[in-house]
Amino acid sequence: MCAPFKIDIHFSVAASVRPNQNSRMPILRTISAPARNIADLLFPPTCWADPHALESHAGLSEASRLAIARLAAQSYCHRCGLTTGPFAANNKSHPCARCPERLAGITRTARVGTFSDPLVTLIHRLKFARNWEIAAILAPFLHHAITTVAEESHTSIDCLIPIPLHWWRKARRGFNQAEEIAGETAKLSGWKIQRPLKRIRGTSPQARITAPTVRAENVKGAFICRSDSSLAGKHIWLIDDVTTTGATIHAAALAIRKLPRELRPASINAAVICVTDHASPPP
Ligand SMILES: [Zn+2]
Repeated sequence: MCAPFKIDIHFSVAASVRPNQNSRMPILRTISAPARNIADLLFPPTCWADPHALESHAGLSEASRLAIARLAAQSYCHRCGLTTGPFAANNKSHPCARCPERLAGITRTARVGTFSDPLVTLIHRLKFARNWEIAAILAPFLHHAITTVAEESHTSIDCLIPIPLHWWRKARRGFNQAEEIAGETAKLSGWKIQRPLKRIRGTSPQARITAPTVRAENVKGAFICRSDSSLAGKHIWLIDDVTTTGATIHAAALAIRKLPRELRPASINAAVICVTDHASPPP
């Protein structure tokens, strides 16, 4: 008689995360390595972004990976983050025609892609279905985007600053998606994470507001920045999941710019997974 198969279940979150495990089977997230191969045979892991079974254990099917690579290859303005023509080389020195429309208030923007699938599905699952493991899948793409923009401008990447949630919203959601993305990106790169920003008032979700002026008003004065020397002279990168009008990033950058001159960073930059712009498909 065969010995009964023993499933070693533990509850260490960090040790049990497997990015390719399907959220429809949350129990699989607690199964340790010896049981995983058998579990995968019984319940083949699927891609986070589409229902196809995975060819590998990377959390994304080949089709999804290629789709993100195509989005990442689009030309965009490295100042405001908006999509540009294929031969444009827009950056801090050569702003694109739409830079003045943006309220970003930052020096550079790095992005993975436009607000299009499969990035939309991944962001929604990360944010609203609490599949925070997806941050580890998005991190390599963001790491590449930040590195590309920083190298182009010959600047260092001194720290990542996740855009904070108000404590009440973080308590309700259970996590901050920007924190998760920044944390996974820092793990890949060794870049430091700093948290000098605090969100001092609750705001309506920006996704529910369409008018740019109302979005700006919604987050105006929502942040304060700790007044110490931790950012002085540094090239800092604000990290968020999605930017639409740039209002949230602008409000955060404005709080940092209010620091006394000797405490201000050398540059305030932004890195996001998605930029919503004219190249994104209509909702
Ligand atoms: Zn621009």
